[in-house]
Amino acid sequence: MKQLTRPAALLLALGLTLTLSACGGKEEAQWQPSPSPSSTPAQESEPLSENSPTPAADPYDAVRTYWSEEQLTQSWGPDQPVEHIFFHPVIAYPQYAFHESALPESQRIGLDDWMVTVDEYKKILQNLYDKDYILVAMEDVWSEVTDGGSPRMVRNTLQLPEGKKPLIISFDDVNYYEYMLEGGFTSKLVVGEDGQIWAECTDPYTKETFLTQDLDATPILDQFVLEHPDFSLNGAKAIFSLTGYQGILGYRTQDDRDIAANDPGRPAFETYRQGEIEAVKPVIERLKETGWTFGSHTWGHINLGSETRTLQSVQNDTERWLDEVGTLVGPTNILFYPHGARPDGDDWHKTGPMFQYLQSMGFRVFASVGINSFSYVKDDISAVICDRLHPDGTTLRWSRDRYLQFYNAEDIIDLDVRPDLGVGW
Ligand SMILES: [Zn+2]
Repeated sequence: MKQLTRPAALLLALGLTLTLSACGGKEEAQWQPSPSPSSTPAQESEPLSENSPTPAADPYDAVRTYWSEEQLTQSWGPDQPVEHIFFHPVIAYPQYAFHESALPESQRIGLDDWMVTVDEYKKILQNLYDKDYILVAMEDVWSEVTDGGSPRMVRNTLQLPEGKKPLIISFDDVNYYEYMLEGGFTSKLVVGEDGQIWAECTDPYTKETFLTQDLDATPILDQFVLEHPDFSLNGAKAIFSLTGYQGILGYRTQDDRDIAANDPGRPAFETYRQGEIEAVKPVIERLKETGWTFGSHTWGHINLGSETRTLQSVQNDTERWLDEVGTLVGPTNILFYPHGARPDGDDWHKTGPMFQYLQSMGFRVFASVGINSFSYVKDDISAVICDRLHPDGTTLRWSRDRYLQFYNAEDIIDLDVRPDLGVGW
């Protein structure tokens, strides 16, 4: 997967290997995470690294190689929009989540507002595919160039198969927060004995814990792409937007700096944390092998647009994300604003101190939330700002027209299970 150029210092600070190669007249940084030891049976019986002696055994090869270069004859230029939609974790047990869980009423309404159910999500994927969208890597859409002057971002021309339209999908908050575990969601991603990604899930009624590929957004998209390899351009899938305050991907990898120095629980916390770090590594490795990439959603899901937000708090948060999340998932130049809130009150008409700081830390693509897949290459600093659309309860109910290019909300929304909150169509 191509990565954009970013400060070498950031890569080196993260302990990663950097190689620079000239390609197409511009420098591109490529990175590789250090090999991570793992003792999971899945890895021993079926090596997952790219140096594996049996790469042909990977079912994802059929996706990566589906389109040949000769078939990519359609040029998608900088003035043609690349649509971008995002999801939160999908609701595995909607009846439970909307009506029966112990979550407070306000939180259950929040699930209706901001999330879709597993069945709705599957229907949306099918519609996107039927409407000839093709998944592209967000990292491939913009690049940083210098042209002998100051670095700046440019929108790349994508080479697509005829008739296909490019689509980025991002997934916010794939952290498996504590509250979701009580709300009818899956609880973590794991590598199964077959070497594939599965979700761990506890049935809220029977309390039975099991592995599934049918109740979680990640393995559902994995399965969909395996069944429809023409839905992916060169193996691309989607990007996770991760916070760090309750770890990542269902593993509690956050560090102990919030625990008092003399707290007797510290050693046990640290031992547990190290176990979680080792356990998440093979999951990250397999996700990367199968087209998933990673961006920052800030460590603490902080509101960058809040009037009380200080630059110092943004700096602390960013350093913590790089320490605790960046060291695991590798460098990224993509930042997804929590709450869609833009730093300094506005990131379009001005470039304020928070934006400048975040850019100085290596971020180049800043994604918010909006009513279309707007994107704008800034001309005073090397950065792109862009908006994403949000399939969820609010837009299924109230923005049907705006989403018709992707699906008809009437065909998607499950009004039998959602609370009775009305629709606008
Ligand atoms: Zn979020």
